[in-house]
Amino acid sequence: MDKPAARGSDAPARMLRSTLRATWSLLRRAGPCAQAGATLLAALLAVAPAPAAAQPAPPAPATVAMSAQPVVEGIWFVQGESAMGSAANQNFISNAAFIVTAEGVIAIDALGSPALAERMLALIRERTRAPLRWVIVTHCHADHIYGLQAMKAAGARILAHAGCREYLASDTARLRLEASREELFPWIDETTRLVTPDQWLGEKGGEGDLLLELGGRRLRVRHAGPAHTPEDLVVFDETSGVLFTGDIVFRGRIPFVGQADSRRWIDALDRMLQWQPRILVPGHGPLSREPAQDLALTRDYLRFLRQAMGEAARNLEPFEEAYARTDWSRFAALPLFAAANRMNAYNTYLLMEHEAE
Ligand SMILES: [Zn+2]
Repeated sequence: MDKPAARGSDAPARMLRSTLRATWSLLRRAGPCAQAGATLLAALLAVAPAPAAAQPAPPAPATVAMSAQPVVEGIWFVQGESAMGSAANQNFISNAAFIVTAEGVIAIDALGSPALAERMLALIRERTRAPLRWVIVTHCHADHIYGLQAMKAAGARILAHAGCREYLASDTARLRLEASREELFPWIDETTRLVTPDQWLGEKGGEGDLLLELGGRRLRVRHAGPAHTPEDLVVFDETSGVLFTGDIVFRGRIPFVGQADSRRWIDALDRMLQWQPRILVPGHGPLSREPAQDLALTRDYLRFLRQAMGEAARNLEPFEEAYARTDWSRFAALPLFAAANRMNAYNTYLLMEHEAE
């Protein structure tokens, strides 16, 4: 997909700096022969005009297709692509939802760039003149939070679990943002920043759960982590039976397990099954009118990983052998199997080694 041409007066400077930075890091990795080139580029970087600090250019409007899909009366969601984030898909790879009440709007997650969040805000404004009052952050992964600054600017209060406070202040989050400024340019650029939530749940041993009441809606916000992340929040609308799960449930694709505590994650899925939700809006993929099935698919995949890799770890079988011998056929047809399964299995192998100690 073409990158937008118009990006304010310092767009060429940004582009130049970004290209120079990328080339420079390539040369540095290339070894001593490239030293002279690296030095020259470093000098060029130093003189390349920096973007004007006083007047950051407004974000280029997202051009990727986005529509508000109705869930039930007063609730919509937008659905990202089932893919890894890229400049081509503009990092629209996750879902977000909004609940319209007479007293204001509640958003769940903020999408993967300020421009995407602006698009969602426009979709909200097509449906109501009520202000955006809250954004509930299901967890602090980049594709769910890089849009927060646009929602904050629209006047929303941001609510998240205290588990993500440490992450937001970490080098990991800072380096991730720096990498995204290269990989996802121009959708993520120098003006994109990490936004600190206004209200934390579960801080200093406080309540991890909250009943949020607005315009006749009663939303149960519950801490379901540590599962996919330490800070996972799920939102359950009592009236309609709609459950927003964030990345606790990946629908129709292989989950990204990362460093998750899969034992607690399985427990959280079991708890949600007991609530008997009617409709499930996941963090990725289409909504489900058969929530029990989807909760069970994620749970069964995690159980399978733990069982297969746990056995290997206990028997001191090398990961490569265990992975090659495991029969993955039950999950192999799911999207992103090739991209995610091996890493999921490896992380689970390490986790099971650790649990066995
Ligand atoms: Zn995530």
